[in-house]
Amino acid sequence: MLKGKTALVTGSTSGIGLGIATALARQGANIVLNGFGDVETPRAQVLKAGKAAGAQVAYHGADMSRAADIEDMIEYAQRNFGQVDILVNNAGIQHVARVEEFPPERWDAIIAINLTSAFHTTRLVLPAMQKSNWGRIINVASVHGLVASAQKSAYVAAKHGIVGLTKVTALENATTGITCNAICPGWVLTPLVQKQVDAKAEAQGISNEEATKQLLGEKEPSLQFTTPEELGELAVFFCSPAAGNVRGVAWNMDGGWAAQ
Ligand code: NAD
Repeated sequence: MLKGKTALVTGSTSGIGLGIATALARQGANIVLNGFGDVETPRAQVLKAGKAAGAQVAYHGADMSRAADIEDMIEYAQRNFGQVDILVNNAGIQHVARVEEFPPERWDAIIAINLTSAFHTTRLVLPAMQKSNWGRIINVASVHGLVASAQKSAYVAAKHGIVGLTKVTALENATTGITCNAICPGWVLTPLVQKQVDAKAEAQGISNEEATKQLLGEKEPSLQFTTPEELGELAVFFCSPAAGNVRGVAWNMDGGWAAQ
């Protein structure tokens, strides 16, 4: 379905971004991976998924908190594959503390990586998408783009912000073949959430299993994690012709979290 298209997925060396990159490659899209840590294992996973459909895989290590790195990454993607047809703004970090104890440098980093980076990637890919009159911009927000939780001020502010950016981008391109939508997952068991499980287990002196149960029980009625594979399939849907008039939505995949 996506053969000949190119997808840039930020923060795709791990977790949700890797799940989305894998699903898009399976549909034949060329992929530009981005993110820190081990690159070879995720690259091999995405290559394998895209092999039958002939997808190519490239990587750029831009630090998403740096505008100059982001510009360099978009140029790299355009040099390699012509243009970015599908942009998935996924890179994100978390820090948990009450507002009065929140380290200002953590606030700045979360706003830069979880929100401002999406402004930069979006403004840089839009002109080429507008020329070809086709594009898909998918912002990985969170259920925290719709509701709040204590101790997550920067994250909730950034995620509400990216839902707003999603709507504006969708509206400004509403008469074109470019759509922009947000995905709002509940709990997904990635390294980002494992850190929160570990902190809970340590703070309460309970097992990892008990901490996981508590974490889900507090917020997610299904008592189940959403998986990166499920989120990948939702991204594939947003890229399909059937989703051509889905514009500016914030689509939960949260086990009922925001329905409460
Ligand atoms: P993760 O920690 O598994 O992956 C984060 C990715 O972002 C990694 O590839 C990491 O290298 C990359 N990254 C971090 N800082 C970066 C930077 N400065 N520059 C470039 N890359 C950077 O986390 P995840 O859970 O897969 O999170 C992905 C996205 O999904 C985030 O935006 C997160 O807020 C969102 N999300 C996660 C959950 C969840 O429960 N895990 C729920 C809702 C939304």
